Amino acid sequence: PPCTIAFIGLGQMGAPMTVNLLKTGYGVRGCDLSPAAREALEAAGGTAFASPAEAAAGADGVITMLPNGRVVRDALLGNGGAAAVLAPGTVVIDMSSSAPMDTRSLGEDLEAAGLNLVDAPVSGGVAKAITGTLAIMAGGRPEVVAAAKPVLAVLGGRIFETGALGSGHATKSINNFVGGAGVAAALEALVLAKSFGLDLDLLVDVLNASTGRNNATENKLKQFVLSETFAAGFGLALMAKDIGIADGLAEDMGLELPTLHNMAKLWADATAALPKGADHTELYRYLAERATA
Ligand code: NAD
Repeated sequence: PPCTIAFIGLGQMGAPMTVNLLKTGYGVRGCDLSPAAREALEAAGGTAFASPAEAAAGADGVITMLPNGRVVRDALLGNGGAAAVLAPGTVVIDMSSSAPMDTRSLGEDLEAAGLNLVDAPVSGGVAKAITGTLAIMAGGRPEVVAAAKPVLAVLGGRIFETGALGSGHATKSINNFVGGAGVAAALEALVLAKSFGLDLDLLVDVLNASTGRNNATENKLKQFVLSETFAAGFGLALMAKDIGIADGLAEDMGLELPTLHNMAKLWADATAALPKGADHTELYRYLAERATA
């Protein structure tokens, strides 16, 4: 039966996810640094707190949807962290896109505190967070993943059980490498086509009817780049983080993967060059400027 979830991180993804939990009858005790995010949760019918420990008091389970694994560790085990107030055996689900090696060590530390971690990152962006149809990649001990499943089913359309703890986060970073490479290629295509004088709307139509089609050509170029809104709802810094995680994983495995390594550098350089808070589709601005520099 629906219970009460402490939900830490009420940003672009967390906010619509909590709305779906509330709609399904779950109680939500949320936490975010941002007062605006806390107010939005209260308006949706949840209760909001400034610290993870306050949100976790009396909660039956915890979901984190935070920028990265370091913030997740701090929200659980740091000062004012949730772990100290949770009942033994509580399941903690990290749905952020964290680094798999960090997730493994966090899982060990939580286990020492009597808590069970699942890594269950998502794909599908804000649109699928709103419709509750995210793709979810869940890693962890089978019985812990099974315990997390009812709540994951509220948030996701498909739930993939990827294996041991950390495997969800590894899978997610690999997906975002492929997705991010697709975005970068599609944006460089626009720069090249524009320079030659091609009709860019027509180019996108051709790509979408041809072998160049990918998620970026279908769902990003016209919607957020040619329209110049650059509001896809996924931050440039988050994409850089995700591809950096995959690149770090390759290094850990002793692999030399040139496309991955170049992608990680490109997205990191763009993040350093563009204003803080830029959307990932704004990579176009960076590529367009750099192309003629
Ligand atoms: P976001 O920046 O919109 O939200 C993160 C939220 O966490 C913010 O509201 C911020 O105030 C809050 N926060 C940061 N530090 C905190 C702390 N110490 N305590 C409490 N709250 C804190 O990011 P998002 O787009 O919602 O992404 C969240 C996670 O989901 C990231 O790991 C991201 O990589 C992943 N993700 C995002 C998308 C997307 O399309 N936006 C898709 C899939 C996965």
